[in-house]
Amino acid sequence: MQDLQTDIAIIGGGIAGLWALNQLRNSGYSAILFEQESLGGYQTIASQGMIHGGVKYALGGSLSGGSEAISAMPDLWRRCLQGEGKVDLRGTRVLSEDFFLWSGASLTSRFTSFFASKMLRGRVEKLQAENYPLPLRDPQFRGQVYRLVDLVLDVPSLVEVLAQRHREAIFKIDWQQAKLERDNGKASLLLPGCRISPECLLLTAGTGNETLIEQLGAPGPAMQRRPLQQVIVKHQYPEVLYAHAMGSNPSPRLTISSHRSSDGQAIWYLGGDLATEGVNDEPAVLIAKAKRELSQLFPWLDFGESQWRTLKIDRAEPKQSNLLKPDQAFVAPVVGLDNVLAAWPTKLTLSPNLADAIETKLAALNIQPRHQPELSLLSDLGRPGFAPAPWDSLFA
Ligand SMILES: Cc1cc2nc3c(=O)[nH]c(=O)nc-3n(C[C@H](O)[C@H](O)[C@H](O)COP(=O)(O)OP(=O)(O)OC[C@H]3O[C@@H](n4cnc5c(N)ncnc54)[C@H](O)[C@@H]3O)c2cc1C
Repeated sequence: MQDLQTDIAIIGGGIAGLWALNQLRNSGYSAILFEQESLGGYQTIASQGMIHGGVKYALGGSLSGGSEAISAMPDLWRRCLQGEGKVDLRGTRVLSEDFFLWSGASLTSRFTSFFASKMLRGRVEKLQAENYPLPLRDPQFRGQVYRLVDLVLDVPSLVEVLAQRHREAIFKIDWQQAKLERDNGKASLLLPGCRISPECLLLTAGTGNETLIEQLGAPGPAMQRRPLQQVIVKHQYPEVLYAHAMGSNPSPRLTISSHRSSDGQAIWYLGGDLATEGVNDEPAVLIAKAKRELSQLFPWLDFGESQWRTLKIDRAEPKQSNLLKPDQAFVAPVVGLDNVLAAWPTKLTLSPNLADAIETKLAALNIQPRHQPELSLLSDLGRPGFAPAPWDSLFA
C-alpha cells in the first residue's frame, strides 16, 4: 500500500470541482480530482450556460448581499475568457455576449420604472426596436425589450477547457474499489494499492455530496434538492434567442437559450416558471404547455417540424429554511472532521466566487501548498470522459 500525500483531493468533476482544480493548482496547491461518471456530469451539463449579473433576482424585489456578489460575475468571467483571470478560459465558446429580457405590452410601465431605478442603472439597457433580437423583430410584437449584462457560454466547451488544462490531475473513481475512511478526525481516500491522505478533502459532487457526507458518518452540512423539469425542442427555425420572457410573476415566465445538437439541428432549451411550476407534470402535459407558451409568445414564428423532450433534474444546494433559494456559493467544514469541506456553487455563475471562498477556508485552516504527489501512481484508475449535452443524450 503506497501512501500518496496531496494538498487537496477533490471529489466530483462538475463546474465546482473543475473550477476549484484549476484555481487551486494555479495558486500552487497540488490538487487531484476524482470523478465517478463523466466530467460536467449532472447539473453543469444540464445548465443553460447563463452567466448572470443578478438582475433576474432583483426582479424578485430584493437585491441582497448575495445578488450584489453576483453582479461582479459577468465581468470576472469575461476577464477569464480573455486569459486574464485566476482561471484561464480561453478556448471556451461564447454563445452570446447579450442576454435579453422582454415584457408584454401590459407590463411595460412596471418594468420601465423598475429598470430606471438607481439600483439597476448601468446593468440594464432599454432597446430600440431595430436592436431587438431577430425572433422579436416582428410588427406583431408588442412590449419592451431590454439588454442585460449577462453572457451565455457553451457549457460542453467550458467543461472541456477546464479539464484539458489539468488533465493529468483528473482520474476516474470506482467506488466498488475505493472508499472514504476517517481516523482521528481526518478523512482519507483508500484506492486499490494506494491511500490518499489529503490536507483537505473537498466534496464538490453536487447531489452526490449528500451520500459522501453520510459515508463519512457526519451529520452535516445538510443538502436540499430543488427539482425542475426543463423542455427541449429540436426544430427548423434558424435564429437563436437568449432571453427571459417576463409575465406577471417576478420570476421569468420562460427562459430561452439556443444550442446546436451534434447533428447540427437547432435547439431551444426552455426553463423559467415553465420548468419549476411544471416539475411534477407528465412529460406530455408539460410539452403541451411549452407548445402553448411558444405559440402565445411568438405567434409569427414557424418552428417547422419539431421534436420535444423534457429533462427532470435536481438542483443541489445547502439546506435553507422553507426550501428557499440560496443566493451565495456555499462551502463549509463537514461536521466532526478537520480536513473535509463540502461545497455547492448554487449557480454556474458563482463558481469563481466558490473557489475564492475555498481558498479563504484553506488559509483559515492553515493549509499551504506543500506536497508534490507522484500522479503516475494513479494512472491505473483511468480518465473519465465528458458528459453529453442533454439535447444529444435525450434525442439519441
Ligand atoms: C436545468 C438547470 C439549468 C441551470 N442553468 C443555469 C444557468 O444558466 N446559469 C447558472 O449560473 N446556473 C445554472 N444552473 C445551476 C448550475 O448548473 C449548478 O449550480 C452547477 O452546475 C452545480 O455544479 P456542481 O459542480 O456543484 O454539480 P454537478 O454539475 O452536478 O457536478 C457534480 C459532479 O460530481 C460527480 N459525482 C457525484 N457523486 C460523485 C461521487 N460519489 N464520486 C465522484 N464523483 C461524483 C457527478 O458525476 C458530477 O460530474 C442550472 C441548473 C439546472 C439544473
